Amino acid sequence: MHRRHLLNLMLASAALAFPFSVSATQIRNARLWRSDDKLRLVFDLSGPVSYKTFTLSAPDRLIIDLSGASLSGDFSQLALGETVIRSIRSGHFGKGDTRIVLDLNRPVQLNTFLLAPQDGQGHRLVLDLLSDSKVATPIVPRETPGKTNHPKRDIIVVVDPGHGGKDPGAVGAKGEREKDVVLSISQLLARRLKREKGFDVKLVRNDDFFVPLRKRVDIARQHKADMFISVHADAAPRLTASGASVYCLSEGGATSATARFMAQRENGADLLGATSLLNLKDKDPMLAGVILDMSMNATIAASLQLGSTVLGSLAGITTLHQKRVEQAGFAVLKSPDVPSILVETGFISNARDSQRLVTARHQQAVADGLFEGLQRYFQKNPPADSYIAWQQEQQQARV
Ligand SMILES: [Zn+2]
Repeated sequence: MHRRHLLNLMLASAALAFPFSVSATQIRNARLWRSDDKLRLVFDLSGPVSYKTFTLSAPDRLIIDLSGASLSGDFSQLALGETVIRSIRSGHFGKGDTRIVLDLNRPVQLNTFLLAPQDGQGHRLVLDLLSDSKVATPIVPRETPGKTNHPKRDIIVVVDPGHGGKDPGAVGAKGEREKDVVLSISQLLARRLKREKGFDVKLVRNDDFFVPLRKRVDIARQHKADMFISVHADAAPRLTASGASVYCLSEGGATSATARFMAQRENGADLLGATSLLNLKDKDPMLAGVILDMSMNATIAASLQLGSTVLGSLAGITTLHQKRVEQAGFAVLKSPDVPSILVETGFISNARDSQRLVTARHQQAVADGLFEGLQRYFQKNPPADSYIAWQQEQQQARV
């Protein structure tokens, strides 16, 4: 089978496995039973749902997040009485998701499961709350991000000042050099990122020296970057061309990058090392290719989103040469697993652009714009184990 067909097949079956997000499921009713050793809470649903639960302490709470679900029932009639549940609250969060918060009198062990329609009953989500002391074999909650064991790692941004050393990049009419301008902007961006809690930053070069393009990609992957941003300034024969642009990898570029990684793998190169997310060494070649393709596609999708957020931030600071993210086969953007963008901060070949680009003030403004774009992107898409994700969970838990 052709690799592309297999990929499509895999994507199709992945879509079938998660049909719940298509139409909103309604949470119609809640019912309660109690026995000596447990309290059973049942939510009646209009259809299947995907959900996750986690607990928070001090005060004790149990959070149930139902994605693509809305509330049509009323929980206020529930006789909570002397149960472990003090009160039930609910609210919307995210895109059409519902969060239900149970305020608890004490910690509980939790067992949850979904029931399909049967014996005149519809879809149900069942939660068994077991008093801590009565549990013989502890049931591990599905997730406990509110606890101190939530990892709070920094988001790693690799900033790549273009060119350097023997390669000056574009040179302006008055001798302005791209390599100097982009180093200054990159250093200012790095300084801003370092000041922000939850971010860590690495510079590909912090001085005026040459770094080969492939090496820049390798540096990003070695640092396990969450994103890679290459900073440049354009040049064009048409001297009136001006403004900033943002690029990410094109599909053609991705195809050739996949081919290159595959070739290197065949040659025994350990580019996709054991520490990588993409551990393909033990996979058969066709499967490895499919995984690499899927990763490339996902990475390009993330890069496009990142790029358009950054472009939006730059719009307030400088004119834009291109109003949307462009795609090209730039070699520095070819990491299969690191969302990567290349920003042309303006045209060195344009008199007005280059005059501004050499000033400390404009360099700072551009660096601030880039920072704001990155920050907005990661606020929207925080890696699950990051400090930013933890911080957001803390805020959402205060429903
Ligand atoms: Zn350049």
